Amino acid sequence: MDESVAIEQTLWDEMDGLTGCVAIYDSGRPGKTVALRFDIDCVGVSESSDPNHPPVQQGFNSTYAGRMHACGHDGHMTIGLGIAKYLTSNRETNGVNGIVKLVFQPAEEGVRGARPVAESGIVDDAHYYLSSHIGFIAESNEVVLNPYNFLCTTKYDFRFKGVPAHAGAQPHIGKNALMGACTAATQMMSISRHGSGMSRINVGVIRAGEGRNVVPATGELQIEVRGENEEINTYMCQQVERMAQGAALSYGLELETEVMGEAVDLTNDLELVDILGTVVSEMPVLTAIPKRSFVGSEDSTILAKRVQKNGGKSIYFVIGSNLKGGHHQSNFDFDESILPTAVQLIL
Ligand SMILES: [Zn+2]
Repeated sequence: MDESVAIEQTLWDEMDGLTGCVAIYDSGRPGKTVALRFDIDCVGVSESSDPNHPPVQQGFNSTYAGRMHACGHDGHMTIGLGIAKYLTSNRETNGVNGIVKLVFQPAEEGVRGARPVAESGIVDDAHYYLSSHIGFIAESNEVVLNPYNFLCTTKYDFRFKGVPAHAGAQPHIGKNALMGACTAATQMMSISRHGSGMSRINVGVIRAGEGRNVVPATGELQIEVRGENEEINTYMCQQVERMAQGAALSYGLELETEVMGEAVDLTNDLELVDILGTVVSEMPVLTAIPKRSFVGSEDSTILAKRVQKNGGKSIYFVIGSNLKGGHHQSNFDFDESILPTAVQLIL
């Protein structure tokens, strides 16, 4: 078993196969239902072992090679737990009525986790839905009330299946899946940009072949497309699907297409943006940034849209943090001093 698979198995066993959690706080008093979402997953990055890296100095760096909280989701989890602790230990005096659902969501990276959480129906009765991210586009003690430019995205795996053959004696009877994958990858990177707005394409992984002297019978692509809105993302999806199909046809290959994750665009409800603005203005340590471009994807948008479709209101905001290293980098480290402020802000 290779090391990466062994780590995954260890984590899976430790978690007993449970990757997410929802805690429901019922105040026992009439009121609205509020859903708070915290993503809790790590990223496939090995954490820096540099002695100057603060988590190394303070002894909380990752213990699993190739797995690291390099995006701050451990901070999100901590904020969620802080809120849970406050609510339960101040039950009579916390002033919270109605129901609070704390949704600890798995698999935001790769935008895979929100869809099954949404389909479970757990946020369907929410009058209000709040989610946030630390860092990214704001410094410590800044709060971006209404970030915009959330890109729609779709993540695909394309698997080409060919026919192996002796590369010297019978190359003509082989069907070359490596060439199918390469052709599709090259074409995908040359898709015309969309005239109406931002689009993205990335072929992130290509794996193919079995051996030097065998016509490659397997080829796999892991790719993603993004678009400023659903129309542009759909355009990108149609292009990559057609190119994969065309490459398969060219080389006589079978093609398996699997959507591995997705996120949609986001429109915050202005009523909640206004409320958040008022709360921030009442906390002297914080500075409100009314709007700032996000230019990323987030699967919280799927939960937000679900709540809005059911008549609820939703907001996604950014809790600023100074960063020692950028998101998804091995020296990522956020400013932990923002955590208590974030708990206070959301409460
Ligand atoms: Zn993140």
